[in-house]
Amino acid sequence: MALGDVKRRNVAKDISRSQTTFKYHLPVNDKSYNVCKKTVLDVFQISSRRVQTLQTKMKFNLDISDKRGIHHNRSCDVSFDVKELVRDRISSMPAQESHYSKSTSCKLYLSSELCVERMYDNFKESHPNIVFSCSLYREIFRSEFKLRFGPPPSDSCSYCDELYIHLVAAETEDVQKRISAQNTLHHRKTETVYKVLHEDVVMSKSYPKYVVFCTDLQQVLFYPTLHHSSMFYQRQFSTYSQCVHNMGTEKPFMFVWNGSVAKCGSFEVTSCILIYIELHFEPLKVGEIRRLVVWPDRCIAQNYNLWCIALYHYLIAKKYFTTIDQKFLVSGHSFLPCDRDFALIERRKKKSTVYYPKQWLEVIVNASPAFSAYYMDKEDFTNLSAIE
Ligand SMILES: [Zn+2]
Repeated sequence: MALGDVKRRNVAKDISRSQTTFKYHLPVNDKSYNVCKKTVLDVFQISSRRVQTLQTKMKFNLDISDKRGIHHNRSCDVSFDVKELVRDRISSMPAQESHYSKSTSCKLYLSSELCVERMYDNFKESHPNIVFSCSLYREIFRSEFKLRFGPPPSDSCSYCDELYIHLVAAETEDVQKRISAQNTLHHRKTETVYKVLHEDVVMSKSYPKYVVFCTDLQQVLFYPTLHHSSMFYQRQFSTYSQCVHNMGTEKPFMFVWNGSVAKCGSFEVTSCILIYIELHFEPLKVGEIRRLVVWPDRCIAQNYNLWCIALYHYLIAKKYFTTIDQKFLVSGHSFLPCDRDFALIERRKKKSTVYYPKQWLEVIVNASPAFSAYYMDKEDFTNLSAIE
């Protein structure tokens, strides 16, 4: 190999600089003027290396014509109908809206198990006779669709966005100052509430009679989690899971139920909390005191309604607690320990296959040794309308 290299160098040496002279001309008003190399480089804004490459090709009598933009491997242009077929295929993918920013964002989210290449392969499988490149598929996907892969962002504050837009559009310094003050107030409020949460956590770790937990519903878990191509186009069965994370013990407890057994509203959420309390606490004896602080997600349909208040009254009447407080983080800035738990489950989910709903329990308990899980059957759900 080394010898070959040396030989090649010798051939190049044969046609040395002294044997070949290059002259440079520039056309000006139909006349050609002799110029130096530097002038050519400056006028055409090209590097010395590019000129050198051309010179080498010329020395060896190689073709120096510009072949950029010329392709011989494209049999024909892709027709409009084929592009329409691709568009229809992409549109048919089940996509999810963002949970928190439905009003401010028009982005949709595809399954985290998909990617453009997998979608393209799937298209080719269904239409093996159509000639269509992956790069063109990607171009259509990126330029014509506002689709993203993976779960929607869980926390984005529309108020922060609104303030930012007003700040950018503000024409006077006074308006800018007023918006900045509003922004500072908003973030101070957020920090204050996080401080209260932190104090509650510290209290619950020090005093067993001060119970603090946060609770939130996880994003829908779909099954069966098969990976053959047509799965991406089909609606799947839903499984719901509610997390109750005890801040004192740092133990998350997940309740899982099949979407065909119950929905994911306030009845279901309050039923999970009721079972959690019954499983973990005994009714108080006379004179005993126990306080509960609940930090739920701020979703009106699930945690921020009359049924939750009814449940807390019921728990006090049944002497599980003497006082119950419900506290909320600032909307849009509501990252709770439950969200960390969900991230662990999502990570485990990618390595798991689920054929039927009860298998989600295995996925959850394998996500972290701290997890416990409970499968909710139909009879586990309690209708609190009588308490209301
Ligand atoms: Zn905000």
